[in-house]
Amino acid sequence: MPDKLPGRRETKNQQKEGIDLLQHPPELKELAEKLTRIQKNYPGAVSLAPPQDNLITKHIEEKKPWLEILSLEPQESDLRDFYGNLKEVLMPYEAFSFLKMLDFQDVAPLAKSYLRKEAETINLAATAAGANKASYLFFLRELLRPWAKSAAKLLRSGLRHEKWLLNFCPVCGHLPAGARQEKVEGKRFLICSLCETEWLFNRMTCPQCGNNDHTTLGYFTVEGIEDWKVSFCRKCNTYFKEAITNEPVSVFDLELNVQLDLLARGEGFQPLGGE
Ligand SMILES: [Zn+2]
Ligand SMILES: [Zn+2]
Repeated sequence: MPDKLPGRRETKNQQKEGIDLLQHPPELKELAEKLTRIQKNYPGAVSLAPPQDNLITKHIEEKKPWLEILSLEPQESDLRDFYGNLKEVLMPYEAFSFLKMLDFQDVAPLAKSYLRKEAETINLAATAAGANKASYLFFLRELLRPWAKSAAKLLRSGLRHEKWLLNFCPVCGHLPAGARQEKVEGKRFLICSLCETEWLFNRMTCPQCGNNDHTTLGYFTVEGIEDWKVSFCRKCNTYFKEAITNEPVSVFDLELNVQLDLLARGEGFQPLGGE
């Protein structure tokens, strides 16, 4: 059933593709560690009651993520302090030098645009700031992440895994960064690129295009990278990384496995989402 591709291969000359820093594993690893550290100090700004039954019904029937149902957005005070910490961590990297010119007042409305997935607004802002679009998106995502995670933690009691099964996050509506496959039962959970909520998804369906024809779906594994696989769809030419574990998986865990991306791109696949 699944396609198997040959194991490890030389990938050095592909490293120049894509986005400088974010394609550079040692720097990304160091950066991920620093960001994880400052995230841990985030106080958790959201205070929310668990979702009520009538809203859970609305959430499922209207296929609306929780933040949309509750019209929930961060207040500037939720982001302000963290912005200072984030800027300090990111600025030394060339990819984020555009931050020198940005004040919090410029950035706060764009964080909301990111939350609402207003791609055009963000593109224009990135261009105006002279920033690489991917770096700019990375920055906005990391600015929002602690707030989104703290909101998600409080809203997860309203998730109904068996009834959602969609390709966007039931909490914030963003696209998955990848997936986790349970070790024994083999259930597949998609992992939100923003709030890191995981939700159940069909194992034999492409999360990009909904294709469930098994002859065009497959995966490959790589020798030396245990407990990971790359799942792909030949119909829409998309791939995503899947950790095979019973432990929680963060977006950085997914992103740091750059070698799998290089192999998948080398096979002509594009990453899931394209947010
Ligand atoms: Zn989410
Ligand atoms: Zn597909």
